[in-house]
Amino acid sequence: MYSKIDHIGIAVEDLKQAIEIYQNKLGMECAGTEEVAEQKVKVAFFPAGESSIELLEPTSPDSPIAKFIDRKGAGVHHIALGVEDVAAAIEKLKSQGVEMIDHQPRSGAHGAQIAFIHPKSTPGVLIELCQRR
Ligand code: ZN
Repeated sequence: MYSKIDHIGIAVEDLKQAIEIYQNKLGMECAGTEEVAEQKVKVAFFPAGESSIELLEPTSPDSPIAKFIDRKGAGVHHIALGVEDVAAAIEKLKSQGVEMIDHQPRSGAHGAQIAFIHPKSTPGVLIELCQRR
């Protein structure tokens, strides 16, 4: 069901500053930035082989990322698993008793269709399912 680790999402307080670190200190290349209004975040992608690092900066104090940073500070927020069909993956997981945050696919960055698994079902880790176009 899972093709790869699509990306790792990292919550940051200052996207511009974080981009500079990933570009100039870590030597990674930014594949673009985007605002995802639905999730109240600005994101930047840094490809690393088949996977990417996704930096997320909240655009509003009521963004889930702002709440995460308030609780835990900046750092790893979620791991995204690549799937071929996110709707089918949601149904399969639900049938196995996995609790979902998203019962329907929703729009993520780069036109991806995504859904989050409730961290109650995945001890200590927020997992995103991610279907690329
Ligand atoms: Zn993500």
